[in-house]
Amino acid sequence: MADSRKRILIVGGGTAGWMAAATFSKWVAGAGYSIDLIESDEIGTVGVGEATIPQIVDFNRSLQIDEREFMRATQATIKLGIVFEDWTRLGHSYMHPFGQYGVPMHGIHFYHFWLRHLAQGGTLPRDLFNSNTIAAYAGRFAPPNPHEQSPLPPLNYAYHFDAGLYAAFLRRMAEGLGVRRHEGKVVDVALRGEDGFIQSVKLTDGRVFEADLFIDCSGFRGLLIEQALHAGYEDWSEWLPCDRALAVPCDRVAATTPYTRSSAREAGWQWRIPLQHRTGNGYVYCSQFMSDDEASSLLLSRLDGAPRATPKPLRFIGGRRKEVWKKNCVALGLASGFLEPLESTSIHLIQSVLARLLFLFPGNHIDPATIDKFNMQVRSELEEIRDFLVLHYKATERNDTPFWRHCQAIPMPDTLKLRWDMYRQTANIATAPGELFRDSSWFAVFNGQGVNTAAYHPFADIPPDAELARRLEIISGDVQKRVNAMPMHDDFIRQHCAGAPLAGKPM
Ligand SMILES: Cc1cc2nc3c(=O)[nH]c(=O)nc-3n(C[C@H](O)[C@H](O)[C@H](O)COP(=O)(O)OP(=O)(O)OC[C@H]3O[C@@H](n4cnc5c(N)ncnc54)[C@H](O)[C@@H]3O)c2cc1C
Repeated sequence: MADSRKRILIVGGGTAGWMAAATFSKWVAGAGYSIDLIESDEIGTVGVGEATIPQIVDFNRSLQIDEREFMRATQATIKLGIVFEDWTRLGHSYMHPFGQYGVPMHGIHFYHFWLRHLAQGGTLPRDLFNSNTIAAYAGRFAPPNPHEQSPLPPLNYAYHFDAGLYAAFLRRMAEGLGVRRHEGKVVDVALRGEDGFIQSVKLTDGRVFEADLFIDCSGFRGLLIEQALHAGYEDWSEWLPCDRALAVPCDRVAATTPYTRSSAREAGWQWRIPLQHRTGNGYVYCSQFMSDDEASSLLLSRLDGAPRATPKPLRFIGGRRKEVWKKNCVALGLASGFLEPLESTSIHLIQSVLARLLFLFPGNHIDPATIDKFNMQVRSELEEIRDFLVLHYKATERNDTPFWRHCQAIPMPDTLKLRWDMYRQTANIATAPGELFRDSSWFAVFNGQGVNTAAYHPFADIPPDAELARRLEIISGDVQKRVNAMPMHDDFIRQHCAGAPLAGKPM
């Protein structure tokens, strides 16, 4: 009996499955658990998910992954933020950078001082005070220098990588640490009569796998969590209307920009994710306002280079699995719900659910109160991200297509309405500890998308005018100096982490 409580079975070998396998092999195997993973080459993986946010750096570090080896193996590039084109209005663009603006002063965020500068008729753009933004537009990058003597917040970065190569990289690592992989298709899930826990899964060839804890990484189908355990799905399409995507890689033709580009389009938006060996592209759209054929031809007409495949169609419903942990099954990745990739949050959510699971890892007994707490935490994390995404659609002047008119009429979730009203009245954002997007991110998008506030924190009035002007000059000067000292992003990659000679023309 003791042994039978120590078997973990992961169903699915996409990014979620192999992130789970690598994590468990590092952290849980030592506690006496066996780890098995089943995946089906015939079914394959979703094959997208190539832009990340800075927490991935910590995830890789927690697995003691060598950054440069990882970048070589996954054809990775650096991501310093996301440029949003045409979201606020046609012809407008802004960056949501990772990393804060300026330097906090008098106990408050720098952006309040910048708002005061504007209120007094100043014209210095906010970008001048953010190293990520200036470096991204200049196409420069250097890893943060721990010996740098600067009051500026450190450069925060993430990666763009090839999702298939990342899963393969983690697989090598996990298998090296003892995870057993089984090729095959799960066709049946058996539940225990007495408590409805999952007992075993059965493959097409008749093999049966029993376990104590099942991790459902089977993608949108939610093979265990939904099809077997009926956890339920909360549909958020009233707030997030896009329900389809087409993804296509194309040739890389120019220097790799160290940022993701998101361009608002007729009925959704288009992503551009530059990797070392190719550029990933996709059109996320709302099927109520655009046909698949139209989306496909518009996407293909707006690529940087020659397409390398025909666009791959994907369908989804924005929302969350009502219980991400149910009985002895925890869902990860697409099986746990889906928030469209506008802020590249899905891979982060895999990492964050895994971290919660490790923290609350069940021993011999699966505790219902723990499950409730876990599900509540996951729910509030997802709701906060949902609100952040809705902000992008809602705060727009665009009304040039039926889709954008529809977006303007989207009702705001109450939680977003509260945040929006507070920002407009006071310029405060007040994110709670644990929220993924911090004040500087909310400010970047509120301000970038034209949500105006006439206010700023009263402490921003503390420095006299001349003193404020002096500080603004010093901070923007320091940002520029820091960026000027960085190599070009492509040179950094060529020198330290090129998987192969970089394709395309040098900048
Ligand atoms: C259009 C789009 C763009 C995205 N872009 C981003 C992004 O930029 N950044 C980001 O963070 N995330 C992004 N995501 C999300 C990201 O792709 C996923 O979170 C990530 O790939 C994890 O997927 P997964 O492993 O859960 O599912 P999948 O990749 O679908 O893997 C499912 C696995 O389960 C296996 N499986 C399924 N059924 C069975 C069965 N019956 N028997 C055996 N095995 C089975 C499959 O073979 C596969 O191995 C995007 C998603 C979409 C749809």
